Amino acid sequence: MNGNGLKRNILPSTHPNFCVWCLEGEETVNHLLIHCKWAFKVWSDLCKWWNIVWVIPGSIEAFSFDWYYGMGIKASKFWKLIGPATIWAIWLARNDFVFNGKFMCRSVLIQINP
Ligand SMILES: [Zn+2]
Repeated sequence: MNGNGLKRNILPSTHPNFCVWCLEGEETVNHLLIHCKWAFKVWSDLCKWWNIVWVIPGSIEAFSFDWYYGMGIKASKFWKLIGPATIWAIWLARNDFVFNGKFMCRSVLIQINP
């Protein structure tokens, strides 16, 4: 690789695209937003907070289905907002870490999430 790619922060195609949170898994949408141990802890804390039991789905599509149908929770209208808002918060925290070097603690993310 010549120096141009590095100057533009472009990684060579053979470079593994590791997750910024755990540096273990490939940074796929499913890994980053729901399966990474960092994200998993966010969901776990959220479920604990709401006193619900939930099996993390295998994909973001299945996740969307679960949340859209309210997961059987009476306050499902409000609950429907929490899933997408948490996804958005995880994504923003990831970008803040990658582009600004700011690491957000999981507990802070849960507190600022509506
Ligand atoms: Zn990860």
